[in-house]
Amino acid sequence: MGVKDLAEITNRYGQDKEFVLAGGGNTSFKDGSVMYVKPSGTSMADIGPDDFVRMDLGRLKDIMERRYPQDSAAREAQALEDLMNARVQGEPRRPSVETLLHALLPHTYVVHTHPALVNGLTCSEKGAEIAEELFGNQALWVPVVNPGYVLARTISDMLQQHQAAGGGNQIIFLQNHGLFIQADTLAEIDGLYDKVIFSLSGRIGRFPVQGFTVPDGISEEAVADMVSGDTELMAAGALNADLEDYLQDSSSFAPLSLSFTPDHIVYCGFKPLYCDRAKGLSAAFREYTADCKVPPKIVAVKGVGIFGLGISKKAAELAREVFLDGVRIAVYTESFGGHKFMPQDKIDFIRNWEVEQYRSSVSGG
Ligand SMILES: [Zn+2]
Repeated sequence: MGVKDLAEITNRYGQDKEFVLAGGGNTSFKDGSVMYVKPSGTSMADIGPDDFVRMDLGRLKDIMERRYPQDSAAREAQALEDLMNARVQGEPRRPSVETLLHALLPHTYVVHTHPALVNGLTCSEKGAEIAEELFGNQALWVPVVNPGYVLARTISDMLQQHQAAGGGNQIIFLQNHGLFIQADTLAEIDGLYDKVIFSLSGRIGRFPVQGFTVPDGISEEAVADMVSGDTELMAAGALNADLEDYLQDSSSFAPLSLSFTPDHIVYCGFKPLYCDRAKGLSAAFREYTADCKVPPKIVAVKGVGIFGLGISKKAAELAREVFLDGVRIAVYTESFGGHKFMPQDKIDFIRNWEVEQYRSSVSGG
């Protein structure tokens, strides 16, 4: 048991794209008064035992006792400052945005991921209902809340009530976000993950297709040309059988038209640009950029394919990868009563959130 084991399980889940993409997800290990947690913006796939941020658990718990301003910008700024001050002395790195939440979960290990299958449930109309049916009071369902301090506060209160009523605390579903699993051994973490994945898989009527090809209707270079102005952009395209269905017209595109989770906002922009005709792409791109004050990170062209955009090929491919995760989520939601996006006010909060801007800049996305 220790930080080496933490690195091992973090790498294992991080390298499996069914569980987490890009800089998403995080893990922690509590050892006496110290908690080791993944730094913000780094990837779970290749983190080493020495890369975790050491946090003082006592000082983290003090944050939960403190009173913060009602105003969300002032509150998050102050909570962030307190979070940075809760690092063990000499610790230079910035801890994960979900560190406070890790601290208040009582078990030794916490593994938090964003699996497409699980998010099929958490981003669905009937997600809460089906979670209750499948897991009873063994799982906690947390409705969509703003991340950071408010998320930790909400879950802390909900968990206390849930446990007082005899509920289990090891499986936590976060609506429009992902899954937290906590346990005192890694074997137990794996067992709980298997249980969740197995139970949800049994409810899936139609699985998403795997993989994609590069669209042949328009080339990636032509798309990049059409959307590049003062800033030169690269494009990374994708098409598969599921996308063909979604790209028939604007109404079939509806399940992909807004954000499912914070990761999708960070890496793909809060909504893709849907375009009826390849020819109109330049004008549509300019119109979107003027309306939304930021350029789109995904363009979807009717009958052709989707294109991730970015200032480098890598950033464009990352946008594509995370959007394809959204496509898989959309397919899974069909088995849970249909898709349910993040509410607009929660989307706006993330778009304005300083912490996410930091994560997005570290990731290069
Ligand atoms: Zn997360």
